[in-house]
Amino acid sequence: MLPFPLEILVVKYVVNPFSYNEYSQILHCIKKHHEIIDYSQVNKDTKQFAVIRHDVEFSVERAYDFAKLEKTLEINTSYMFQIRNNAYNLFSNENIKMVREINAMGHKIGLHVHLGGLSSFAEISKYILHDSKIMESFLQIPINRFSFHRPPKEALKMNVKLEGLINTYEDRFFEFREEEDGFENLQIKYISDSRHAWNYGYPDEKTIKANSKIHFLFHPYSWTEHGFDNRLNFQSLKDEKVRVFTNTVKTECNHFSGHFQ
Ligand SMILES: [Zn+2]
Repeated sequence: MLPFPLEILVVKYVVNPFSYNEYSQILHCIKKHHEIIDYSQVNKDTKQFAVIRHDVEFSVERAYDFAKLEKTLEINTSYMFQIRNNAYNLFSNENIKMVREINAMGHKIGLHVHLGGLSSFAEISKYILHDSKIMESFLQIPINRFSFHRPPKEALKMNVKLEGLINTYEDRFFEFREEEDGFENLQIKYISDSRHAWNYGYPDEKTIKANSKIHFLFHPYSWTEHGFDNRLNFQSLKDEKVRVFTNTVKTECNHFSGHFQ
């Protein structure tokens, strides 16, 4: 007989929310119950799948670090970048280099469609084709997929299908449901960390095991080695951006005051 209760022998391994450790745990659980496949491998007859994409909102640097983490976890996913946001310039030399490296690690690269420059939904196909071609010409790597940034219902309902471009919200991977009807009992479970929260449910083992088709969206800006709550995460992101900007100015000119370093 043991001299003390068994439970005190169990060291609880607590990880910070949104840390790389937490992401590694989620990934191990997905791998345990599913085969993580690429969007291109899913068709209407596919009975079971897990697809993973990353929409890159604010930081190519964080996407790059996240891609390296995924490389150590031996998975390949899709990284979707914006070309119309005001937080990063995808076509700077540094960013092009990082995106190409992400691609060279085995991840796919796609367009994260910011609809802010769209004048009418009738033009949506032209708009996406135009932006993906520009992206391809700058990056010189294949762009064969897109995801909508903050998709309005109209965009989701349209189920846009374009030659040579996978719409990650296509009905193969995503089941549209009006919010008021709830998200229970969908054939394709959607799990997202949007706004640094799990509004469609947390990807715990029970949820991952219970669903045969799962579409995961993880935003790299939310995830760091340490793992932060929403406020501290934005603070650390802002600090990183200041460092990048400071370095940029320092390398561009020699009249930048040392006071800001
Ligand atoms: Zn987005």
